[in-house]
Amino acid sequence: MPTTFKKVAAILNPTAPHMVGDGFRVHNFFPSGYKIKMDPFYLLDYNAKLEFSPSNTPRGVGVHPHRGFETVTIAYHGAVAHHDSAGNSGVIYPGDVQWMTAASGILHKEYHEENYSKKGGPFQMVQLWVNLPAKHKMTAPKYQSVTHREMASFELPNHEGKIEVIAGNYNGVKGSASTFTEIELYNLRLKAGAKAHLETPAHFNTALLVIEGSITVNGNEKATTNQLVHFAHEGNAITIEASEDAVVLYLSGDPINEPIAQYGPFLMNKPEELQQAIEDYNTGKFGYLEE
Ligand code: MN
Repeated sequence: MPTTFKKVAAILNPTAPHMVGDGFRVHNFFPSGYKIKMDPFYLLDYNAKLEFSPSNTPRGVGVHPHRGFETVTIAYHGAVAHHDSAGNSGVIYPGDVQWMTAASGILHKEYHEENYSKKGGPFQMVQLWVNLPAKHKMTAPKYQSVTHREMASFELPNHEGKIEVIAGNYNGVKGSASTFTEIELYNLRLKAGAKAHLETPAHFNTALLVIEGSITVNGNEKATTNQLVHFAHEGNAITIEASEDAVVLYLSGDPINEPIAQYGPFLMNKPEELQQAIEDYNTGKFGYLEE
């Protein structure tokens, strides 16, 4: 089967950061940072590696709602404590992934974990918003917590590193998280000189975020820490070669191609569904969560 490289459309620098609450200093790559097609991924907020000073009061974001999509939090440094109105709670440590399906509606809060907060230190996280197709937007909330230890993983030959399969399927290794649409989400942990090969359909929306180190993509495009490589809908093969030890977040997904109506933390198809979400939130239909 002949393969052609999936064409690199752009290599994007992080945008100016903004604070989410007082605990997350994020660079938004999309939808506001860059107008790139990433459906079914609606948003990518990236807290580039940053040193937080010790604090006895954990920094973070207080109780807020979500409806119509999923939040996926991927930790690289630091630790985040999560609580939601469906009764789920947990701590996201480096290498862990939390996949929260807000769907019909949830309240949650996200804070630096207490011990991390007291000690301070480096903090690095990604939060993705994964859209849901109309038929799943109002299904029941769901919570998947995948620790680094139990993460599905493909070992590259010759100790060149590994590909952690958060979702999707890499060389027969099935992802740890279940998804509603076809999504490939991997953490590549590559030693200097390692080369990884990926394949994804041409029509999927695809990008790479360099978390650590620097890489060469498809033999000639160079990208370094904190840059996002966005691919065009041409070709289906990607090679990633680590110029030095590198960590790369790879995301690729089958577009949902449905109308989008978004307001704050709600992601629906029609404006009247946003109105309904606001009304349901104001009348307590998202449940209760203590501040
Ligand atoms: Mn949230």
